[in-house]
Amino acid sequence: GRLVGATAEGEELAAEAALRPKDLAEFVGQPKVREQLDLVLRAARARGGTADHVLLSGAPGLGKTTLSMIIAAEMGAPIRITSGPAIQHAGDLAAILSSLAEGEVLFLDEIHRMSRPAEEMLYMAMEDFRVDVIVGKGPGATAIPLELPPFTLVGATTRAGLLPPPLRDRFGFTGHMEFYAPTELERVIHRSARLLDVTVSDGGAAEIAGRSRGTPRIANRLLRRVRDYAQVRGDGVVTEEAAARALTVFEVDDRGLDRLDRSVLEALLKLFGGGPVGLSTLAVAVGEERETVEEVAEPFLVREGLLARTPRGRVATPAAWAHLGLTPPPGTPV
Ligand code: ATP
Repeated sequence: GRLVGATAEGEELAAEAALRPKDLAEFVGQPKVREQLDLVLRAARARGGTADHVLLSGAPGLGKTTLSMIIAAEMGAPIRITSGPAIQHAGDLAAILSSLAEGEVLFLDEIHRMSRPAEEMLYMAMEDFRVDVIVGKGPGATAIPLELPPFTLVGATTRAGLLPPPLRDRFGFTGHMEFYAPTELERVIHRSARLLDVTVSDGGAAEIAGRSRGTPRIANRLLRRVRDYAQVRGDGVVTEEAAARALTVFEVDDRGLDRLDRSVLEALLKLFGGGPVGLSTLAVAVGEERETVEEVAEPFLVREGLLARTPRGRVATPAAWAHLGLTPPPGTPV
């Protein structure tokens, strides 16, 4: 996996589980979503009922799964976790829905990637707590209505705009998760360090936070790698210097760019004078697939204001020249 990649897989999931905040008070950052959810959940608790369905939108690694678990914990309810791509057939969804306990939280990650028939079944389940189970095929098929206990659906998506409006409209509340500010990531890092029993100085936390791309998942991952470095090459304490050295070894620069990001930027600047250059040409120059450049490297470079996608091709910004310590050739439009 990529050290600054926003998604998690395999072993990392276990490491993450140990670092998840358990309640809203422990959840760092996202002040708006936290306040809004706090109101929604308090009110539902006071009514003795089940919370409205919640949609969480935001980039990977910002804490959507964590928040769904917090919603369940705050409601004293069990939680079931699944994802859009895991639900191929409406029947898969029917099986899950019909086995929910009263008040249970159903977390549906990547809800925009559900199949159409499952999506339509979900509409009715969300609105009327009912599903029609189709038995048989062809003209003899019958719909058997099935009552469901009230439950809370927590849907997660990278962009709320990806959802069909009828689905979006069935959520009582949408929380928009933002990238975290460096100071918030410092708090995430200090908290994780306490749980991992690692000593981190304020400077060390700041150094890691600045390279974590606004994403707690990446901050926690970098912290683990810096801890390794401090343990092997130092006295185990994560100081500013240890963090900077460790992340130099792992090729994550002071702005969170990795090897791939830097090679794309370097090619754009050094080979093409800052552009404009077509995506395919740029990809060939760095020896990567078009998709890798476009989907893996570019989004963060664009977000950081280092690269712009224009109709004539990719263009470096003045910040890109500055970041790589290069001087733009005279006459470069800035
Ligand atoms: P994905 O969509 O890829 O599943 P996600 O948005 O669901 O990502 P989580 O799995 O909830 O992200 O969070 C990733 C890691 O970051 C977890 O280890 C979690 O503990 C930590 N984390 C996320 N948000 C916070 C936060 N606000 N405070 C502290 N830790 C956080």
